[in-house]
Amino acid sequence: MSNILQTDILKGKNALVTGSTSGIGLGMARALASAGANVMINGLGEADEIEATRAAIEADFGGRALFHGANMLNGEEIRDMVATAEAELGSVDILINNAGIQYVSAIDEFPEDKWQAIIAINLVSNFHTIKAALPGMKARNWGRIINLASAHGLVASPYKSAYVAAKHGVLGLTKTVALEIAETPITCNAICPGYVRTPLVEGQIKDQAKVHKMSEEQVIRDVILAAQPNKRFVEIEELGQLAVFLCGPAANSINGASLPVEGGWTAR
Ligand code: NAD
Repeated sequence: MSNILQTDILKGKNALVTGSTSGIGLGMARALASAGANVMINGLGEADEIEATRAAIEADFGGRALFHGANMLNGEEIRDMVATAEAELGSVDILINNAGIQYVSAIDEFPEDKWQAIIAINLVSNFHTIKAALPGMKARNWGRIINLASAHGLVASPYKSAYVAAKHGVLGLTKTVALEIAETPITCNAICPGYVRTPLVEGQIKDQAKVHKMSEEQVIRDVILAAQPNKRFVEIEELGQLAVFLCGPAANSINGASLPVEGGWTAR
């Protein structure tokens, strides 16, 4: 799937996507922009590359695109990001919690700083963004919260204890928020992708090739995609279009869901 479907289903809506300077988050931001939303992107990276990414969204889709560099390790910076989006764009109608990192190690050797960072970026940041953005959604009586969990929110794999714990936590948070806002026109759902070929996974391919003494092609086939029955990577555009669908009126009654997009991985 190479082309983003362009609609105006989200015209007039403002979206904040965390961790959107690369990978899935950037795909989400571009998909929302293609559907008419203004977006605030966020994430780490070189300033000139981020500016090119931001400007390309405006040039390609015609809406506004802003950048805020809040570090997802820092609650104060996250609150400033939400407040800035509300001040500059007028609202945060759509919140996509996407920022995430990975680290692979046996639990008895798992570095404590890596554990803390994965829980903070992949889980605790979602608490901070939702807490900051929800009052505005309630005041305007409309909102969409989408949390990027993972197939690893539904099932475990060895050597990914912090990531699996954080992503299971994201699903618990999603369900709790969904119940708290169930009587309002706000929804909160989670997307659970299988493997998507982003910088996050490229790193794992290289690491696993070293550990298993295999070629990168062997790692992709026999290690990475071993659990994914369709034996291909999930496309970023597939996830972007699901996010657009979840933001549209056809998804008004979808709330608290954990939507697997993993080629059948968790059907086993
Ligand atoms: P990626 O590495 O391509 O992108 C991660 C983004 O998060 C980047 O923009 C990065 O700058 C940002 N980020 C990282 N640390 C940050 C911090 N401290 N503060 C602010 N931003 C920070 O990764 P991706 O593969 O696109 O992953 C995006 C999300 O999707 C993650 O939550 C990941 O767990 C999830 N996911 C990915 C896959 C996959 O196969 N790639 C599968 C399932 C779930």
